[in-house]
Amino acid sequence: MSIAEQYDALITALREHGDLGGTLALLSWDQETQLPPAATPGRARQIGLLAGILHERTTDPRFLALVDELATRLDQLDPHQQVNVRETKWRIDRTRRLDAALVRERSALRSESHAVWIRARRADDFAALAPYLARLVAIEQRVATAIDPERPPYDVLLEGFEPGATTALLDQLFAALRDGLVPLIARLSACLARKPLRATGLSGRFAIDKQRALNRLVAERLGFDFSRGRLDEAAHPFTTEVGDDVRITTRISERDLRSALFSTIHETGHALYEQGLDPTARATPMGEACSMGVHESQSRLWENLVGRSEAFWRWLLSELANVFPAVKSRSLATVLLAANEARPSLIRTESDELTYNLHIVLRFELERALIDGTLNVTDLPAAWAEKMRQYVGVAPTDDRDGVLQDVHWSEGLFGYFPTYTLGNVYAAQLFEAAQRSLGALDDAFARGDFRPLREWLQREIHRHGKTWRAPDLIAHATGQPPSAAALLTHLNRKLTWLESV
Ligand code: ZN
Repeated sequence: MSIAEQYDALITALREHGDLGGTLALLSWDQETQLPPAATPGRARQIGLLAGILHERTTDPRFLALVDELATRLDQLDPHQQVNVRETKWRIDRTRRLDAALVRERSALRSESHAVWIRARRADDFAALAPYLARLVAIEQRVATAIDPERPPYDVLLEGFEPGATTALLDQLFAALRDGLVPLIARLSACLARKPLRATGLSGRFAIDKQRALNRLVAERLGFDFSRGRLDEAAHPFTTEVGDDVRITTRISERDLRSALFSTIHETGHALYEQGLDPTARATPMGEACSMGVHESQSRLWENLVGRSEAFWRWLLSELANVFPAVKSRSLATVLLAANEARPSLIRTESDELTYNLHIVLRFELERALIDGTLNVTDLPAAWAEKMRQYVGVAPTDDRDGVLQDVHWSEGLFGYFPTYTLGNVYAAQLFEAAQRSLGALDDAFARGDFRPLREWLQREIHRHGKTWRAPDLIAHATGQPPSAAALLTHLNRKLTWLESV
């Protein structure tokens, strides 16, 4: 086969894998949003069968040999083709270093541990989960060694979620964040002790069907393309790609507009990334998101930097008053305060912009120590409580509100948490760079015009697919390597505003 024929065969294979993946995504989307409860076992069977077929395709020796062969002839390919071959080769190299027995053992342990976690959390019984966590840590250490025995295991695991990120980069970013944020949280606590902030500006009674229409309007105005996507509802909002369309979900609370609005804006940010990828590169690395951290940067940028800004609410408040006339009497300041409510708390998923990243710094430090072998699982609850006290200023009195609160570790996900905060770090850097390039965006936001920002992101981030690894993509888009400075400046400004209202 000529190199052109080989490359075409690769693209054909990747597109078939993409279509199988899209079909799987559709089955899961349906399960989360539509499926009647009694149909769950049948759905699990369908998903299992298709996942098995996809696995056979992606591990087919002929496919692997094709990628290996192309990887030896990179110099005969153009730059986009090189990215597609390089990234596909990187992906298959990681998976084929794991023997089938290890993969089976890992997935059995993960599903067993997940079930144990659900019971342990309900019963506030860390001791029940501890032996499983110890086994999960041990198996991840083996996985990391199998993939690359030369590098620190945590680096190898981290790269599975965030290619290009290293423990050294996280050490530097997260230490800067921790040192910058801990004094801010002390200031926040002092501020709240002086004057309890009444953040009720978006509470009341709001009809569900009207909220549905409002959220659709917001997503559409931000740029979500409904001819290539849907907005539905789910218990835990998410975004999924079904081949040519992108589906987002939100969660509506009758008593608080924030629940649906911020979920919708967050997921719209994810969706704009997917819809902004190069459609001609569909199902190949050139047409795929760079990393989880960069994905999260898009959702956080729209949710926090845009969706909690004064300019945004100057626009949204008038739309809101059209849908819910009772809101007309509420001032911009009241509503803005509700959108930016902040207080130290125990639960990560309920925490605000100011405290959120300290929850992640804590998890990074603990999971890295577990994987490095410098922290024992049995010492985890005490280490958790101590760091919460030091960083956030509050400590849990039970494990349910402490180490048992997140699902990630019980599913064997070590190296995943940092991507959330990388998202926040990148979002602040990108927003700063966009404003440097486009000028202040406030007037446009106040008119409900988000096109300049959206197009800038598409040009600087979306269209590059996996051309660069995340730290290089950020440097390319902003002129700076990843840095916590922009996020700290943004949060400092927010706190100063909270202190002044
Ligand atoms: Zn997200």
